[in-house]
Amino acid sequence: MSMERFSLKGRTALITGGARGCGLAFAEGLAEAGADIATFDVIDPVEGWYELEKKFGVKAKHYKVDVSSLSSLEEGFAAFKKDFDGKLDICVPTAGVNRNVGFLDTTSEEFDKLVGVNVKGVYYTAQLAAKQMIENKTTKGSIILVASIASYMAIRSQLSSAYCGTKGAVRAMCPAIAAELVPYGIRVNSISPGYVRTEMTAPFPHLLESWKDEIMNRRVATPDDIRGGCVFLASDASSYMTGQDVCIDGGVTKW
Ligand code: NAD
Repeated sequence: MSMERFSLKGRTALITGGARGCGLAFAEGLAEAGADIATFDVIDPVEGWYELEKKFGVKAKHYKVDVSSLSSLEEGFAAFKKDFDGKLDICVPTAGVNRNVGFLDTTSEEFDKLVGVNVKGVYYTAQLAAKQMIENKTTKGSIILVASIASYMAIRSQLSSAYCGTKGAVRAMCPAIAAELVPYGIRVNSISPGYVRTEMTAPFPHLLESWKDEIMNRRVATPDDIRGGCVFLASDASSYMTGQDVCIDGGVTKW
């Protein structure tokens, strides 16, 4: 197989939650493979984001968007569409939040927040992306939803029932969205990262340490460890894959 099948030259990718962490790692991977990059996030990008254009010679633009608000998402898409001439081939809804709160203590406000970002935010990002891909008649559409190993199992030593529920929803919606987008040539898959060292897990240094024992390869991931899977799913190398979930977890769900 020619390595050309991994190239994303001439394609445009949109990554939510792309200001830092896993989202930024996905943006870097896609840019390295040649794609122009747009990121949506509620925060300004961290320093590394500004390297995208310089390092990989692609176009990169960031937009302040709250994915839990449909109007904010629609505004973001309108601005992105204008700046990138309506092009869109790859979308990676990565924005997500977590709460370390017990099942018996979870309030409706906390649950709504998690559902708003992790479920509705992912769903509507994918929907708006699919509409733009269809309008732009891309023949290489790939949507990669970000779920989690939390969609398979309880996170040991963390109170995460609501978070697990939202990630399960992402994994469950993936094949159903994929089936509806087949006629448009758009593939939809999801990624379930394992334990990754980011701002999301930083508040639990003791857990990062103890999680090592649960992982088959005995190593907590860095965002860099999971970006290759995203590039693969975005590229023609995975052209026969749709509706799948790909665990990038050091074997934690298999052990
Ligand atoms: P992170 O906190 O570093 O990144 C999340 C990003 O989403 C941040 O930049 C944040 O500002 C952004 N965001 C939050 N709410 C938003 C909103 N309403 N609108 C737009 N952007 C918003 O954490 P991360 O670990 O990089 O998480 C990225 C994704 O990976 C999340 O969906 C998370 O659930 C998932 N994940 C993380 C791990 C892990 O161990 N870190 C494991 C499995 C899955």
